Amino acid sequence: SVLMDCLDGSPGQFRNFKKDDFEAEWIKVAECRFGQVYQVKLKVWREKCALKSFNTTLCAKNFYRKVMDEASDIAKVNFKYIVSVYGLCSEATGVVMEYMSNGSLNNLLASHTLMWPKKFQMIHEASMGMNFLHSMKPPLLHLNLKTSNILLDDHLHVKISDFGVIHWEEGMGENLFMENLTARGNTSYIPPETFTQCPDPPGTPFDVYSFGIVIWEILTQQKPYAGCSMTTVILQVSQGKRPCVQIIADRKPHECDQMISIMQQCWDQDHRKRPPFSALLFSYNTPCFHFTGHQYDNDGVLALLSKKDFGSFRQSVRREHIQTQYPDEKSLLHFTVASRDTE
Ligand code: ATP
Ligand code: MG
Repeated sequence: SVLMDCLDGSPGQFRNFKKDDFEAEWIKVAECRFGQVYQVKLKVWREKCALKSFNTTLCAKNFYRKVMDEASDIAKVNFKYIVSVYGLCSEATGVVMEYMSNGSLNNLLASHTLMWPKKFQMIHEASMGMNFLHSMKPPLLHLNLKTSNILLDDHLHVKISDFGVIHWEEGMGENLFMENLTARGNTSYIPPETFTQCPDPPGTPFDVYSFGIVIWEILTQQKPYAGCSMTTVILQVSQGKRPCVQIIADRKPHECDQMISIMQQCWDQDHRKRPPFSALLFSYNTPCFHFTGHQYDNDGVLALLSKKDFGSFRQSVRREHIQTQYPDEKSLLHFTVASRDTE
């Protein structure tokens, strides 16, 4: 079995944690239809982890079973832009994973205004993560890519989570597959070919389509198809409608046009025309999309910076310069090499 008892598993294998392996205090981070996410602390590692606990409804149990079935695949995934999964806690029907202190991109996009360079950086990092999953042999499909499954670490770098849980199975029929997808409120991220009578099993273009929607959400900081019913979305998307591109602000940098064109290729009606993540990374492999990440927040100024980052930040940017350039109180400020006031 891939399940090892706690803390004696060899590397790359799933552990089975006991409730007693965690300190007594569990902090609830989120509550959703399928269960709860807690911040817990592992006694032995002295480190915070996230425990995603599935409740006992049939659907949630089903998802937990999927994670168990896929454990060997999930345990193999270890990459900078992917949330690490440490193991399971069968006593709590839960998955134990890396704790991402800044929550989900979904929440961040709603609560903070992001600067363009930061947006481009997040898109870049998320596609790095997706490229890694798709470069596995066979490709590991996510099939549940959305902004709530893109999480942020202490320094606001992104990692992909909750991959490989939804599956299309021979004989399962498209109805059950669709139910699994739409039950999670993910309709906006589902490509149109899934809605047609006899869909083929989904492949990598499924995730690329979802990523197109994610790019739109990052660029606009809005939710797609706001106020539309699920049926309307399905009908319109099947006919080729997509989120509105015009609402992307007028005052956008020229790099943004390139990004919009990539986004439109990603959500192409014809799945064969959607670029693989490997091509996507290459297509914006220009200096303007590579940034060193410094954030500055008017309230929690340095909370987002590592000590080392702060040192170089202070050397390269003068405070007055920051405030005159970016007076917006709510903004998370981000500086590119080009905008730094170098001495
Ligand atoms: P789905 O079950 O389809 O992935 P979801 O992403 O909306 O749907 P959860 O995965 O349960 O639901 O996550 C709910 C919220 O919990 C996330 O939006 C995020 O804010 C928080 N969360 C999830 N995983 C972690 C984690 N590893 N570290 C910190 N917070 C997390
Ligand atoms: Mg999730």
